[in-house]
Amino acid sequence: MSKKICIGCGIELQSDYPEKNGYLPAAKLEEAGEHYCQRCFKIKNYGKYMPVRLTRDDYRRVVQEEMNNAQVAIAVFDIIDFEGSFDDEILDVLREMDSIVVINKLDLIPDEKHPSEVANWVKTRLAEEGIAPLDIAIVSSKNGYGINGIFKKIKHFYPEGVEALVLGVTNVGKSSIVNRLLGLKKVTVSKYPGTTLKSVRNQIPHTKITLIDTPGLIPEGRISDLVCENCNLKMIPANEISRKTFKMSKGRALIIGELLWFKVLNNDETKPIFSLYAAKDVTFHETNEEKLKELLKADRGDLLTPPCEECRDRYRSLEKVKHKITVKTGEELVFKGLGWISVKRGPLDIEITAPKEAGIVIRDAFI
Ligand code: GDP
Repeated sequence: MSKKICIGCGIELQSDYPEKNGYLPAAKLEEAGEHYCQRCFKIKNYGKYMPVRLTRDDYRRVVQEEMNNAQVAIAVFDIIDFEGSFDDEILDVLREMDSIVVINKLDLIPDEKHPSEVANWVKTRLAEEGIAPLDIAIVSSKNGYGINGIFKKIKHFYPEGVEALVLGVTNVGKSSIVNRLLGLKKVTVSKYPGTTLKSVRNQIPHTKITLIDTPGLIPEGRISDLVCENCNLKMIPANEISRKTFKMSKGRALIIGELLWFKVLNNDETKPIFSLYAAKDVTFHETNEEKLKELLKADRGDLLTPPCEECRDRYRSLEKVKHKITVKTGEELVFKGLGWISVKRGPLDIEITAPKEAGIVIRDAFI
């Protein structure tokens, strides 16, 4: 019997090991037609999250195998979590191959930012990483903006057709973009990370362009990957990103969800002004150093979330580290997978407490 693959995630179907990927009961597998594996079926029909974590070695193996077949890489990044969607596995591929970089979720950026400004900012960031793509496309797979532009760019550079390797970490919207390009609705697009396990090849109808869609990699450093699936979803902004401005003096503290918190260390004369950008379901609470201690001890799940009841204990048990950081005017402090702080009147001197795994970096202002 020829091998059957799941039309959701592309994995080879099997009916021997229910606990392994690609499982489908034998009776179902024998039925004619297209199949989803049990995992994709559950995601599709019940919205049930079934985590699959591809190891970095497996990821590298899949990607390297396909790099031999492809002439160009199409790498998708999330403009709202740009630093969080940067991962060395993907950057390494971009250093080796010709690439078209796609920046997704433009709809979440405030209107005053023109796509060309976004493109210039991205170009500079990529150059710092030693990457010079053939072109950059700024898109929103949600409303379709710029999708045709990706297609035109591929055609421009490869008029005779091409095999394109599509790369991106989980949640950047890679599946949504692939679907848009293919004009398809059937590939699993879910809010749930890691839904493609193997590479999946698809030809864009009426063209000589084949997309080789690779699994989504779970990157290092994203705070959203340290909480449960429900909290993870809440931390990915869907419709709008919230902005809240603070003017805080020495002795004041800010707690974001119960994910991380910081104390302001500035001297008495200065009151730095900064804005916090994050998904609107992430709560924040301004307080003073004394109350902060009490708050963290008390169970204020109603006030400080994510994490939620389900993942709070586990999150609290993560090893926390302190960082003393100075953010200058015009700089932004990025919390990967959570959001960022943009300093309007600085410097902002703070001591942050966050899980050891949390990726925290300073960048030149974006907004
Ligand atoms: P993948 O894991 O990279 O394949 O990402 P998905 O295509 O499954 O999308 C991840 C999440 O981002 C889902 O909740 C999508 O609805 C959302 N998303 C994808 N593209 C966009 C976009 O252009 N704008 C917005 N606002 N959300 C998007």
